[in-house]
Amino acid sequence: MGSIERIRNVARRVAKWHAAGHQVVVVPSAMSGETNRLLGLAREIAADPDGRELDMLAATGEQASSALLAMALQAEGVKARSYTGWQVPVRTDSSYTKARISSIDDARIRGDLDAGRVVVVTGFQGIDEEGHITTLGRGGSDTSAVAVAAALKADECLIYTDVDGVYTTDPRVVPEARRLSVISFEEMLEMASLGSKVLQIRSVEFAGKYRVPVRVLSSLTDPLMSLDEEMRSGTLITFEEDEKMEAAVVSGIAFSRDEAKITLLGVPDKPGIAFSILGPIAERNIDVDMIVQNQSVAGTTDFSFTVNRNEFSRAVDVLQNVVAPAVGAGEIAKDDKVAKVSIVGIGMRSHVGVASLMFRTLSEEGINIRMISTSEIKTSVLIDDKYMELAVRALHKAFGLDQAPGAAA
Ligand code: ASP
Ligand code: MG
Repeated sequence: MGSIERIRNVARRVAKWHAAGHQVVVVPSAMSGETNRLLGLAREIAADPDGRELDMLAATGEQASSALLAMALQAEGVKARSYTGWQVPVRTDSSYTKARISSIDDARIRGDLDAGRVVVVTGFQGIDEEGHITTLGRGGSDTSAVAVAAALKADECLIYTDVDGVYTTDPRVVPEARRLSVISFEEMLEMASLGSKVLQIRSVEFAGKYRVPVRVLSSLTDPLMSLDEEMRSGTLITFEEDEKMEAAVVSGIAFSRDEAKITLLGVPDKPGIAFSILGPIAERNIDVDMIVQNQSVAGTTDFSFTVNRNEFSRAVDVLQNVVAPAVGAGEIAKDDKVAKVSIVGIGMRSHVGVASLMFRTLSEEGINIRMISTSEIKTSVLIDDKYMELAVRALHKAFGLDQAPGAAA
């Protein structure tokens, strides 16, 4: 919601659903740019502000937008009431700026719904055991919405955002990318964890855990469009894989530039080596993604792994100062100019040759693959980041994602 006019539009849309007989809970995020503005103010005061106070500050963005939305609903003639996370309460753990929801008390919300009100609950925030306000990490209102839907056993969680659904890949990279009308939960989980930024990954995990059907829709469409038309737009994330799925082998291509690769050269090849390298990394809460250990030559081997680019220097520090002296490794090779490109599709389970088409396509473009990792429904490659967009475009074409399903290739 970028302006008062946009808030009015949201109110009109909600009033429409309410008038059709639905009980509605709305979970707004802050007005656009507001969270960045608040965090910017904090950083003017301190380079690394206290987490508790950051959350105290950032949570105000949603409190303001929620109150404004409740007023706008009332102006539309709809009974409405807004609540902050702590009033509900939405209980979380105490990890400030990235808290996890542990439970939501639905009593108050239900009371209002039963009284015919639309309930507005702030996204992005909760309260910990000691009564401190917490926030859920950037993009966290997606997770709040799914969690509230789960707590209330809602029929569906509609997420209105600045894109009109989940695409075969990012249309800014591939203009021919198509909106998927349906995507399976598992595919969405992979897409979100592999770099697609449509939904916060935790919201998808939550949807999976509680089997909440989620629909991603555009907030920019005419708020008064018919409910039927609205339900045909967007992308439904479904648990019923067989029925409505498109018959494609690969459903989407995800990519991420936030990657960095580190190789420890000349490590003694003996039991316990992976643990002695990655243990200290894990102890410092650094997430490791892809891992490759080469064959050993003369008793030593090279051990490579990737981390998020913003944890790269911390990881290198650990290797230099803790790991290398302990395991007696040689050099450390560092590369933070890498990107990960992944193809995702539940069809990969029942089709052979999917990964090999990926590798052939990249080789035809002269793109060198540095690492590979696979799961049942995805294949990821690590490549030089300057070739990332080329790779995504070539793969999108090779897997026929430019064409509507069923169209002749
Ligand atoms: N306002 C928060 C943020 O910008 C939460 C959200 O928008 O989902 O990250
Ligand atoms: Mg958001």
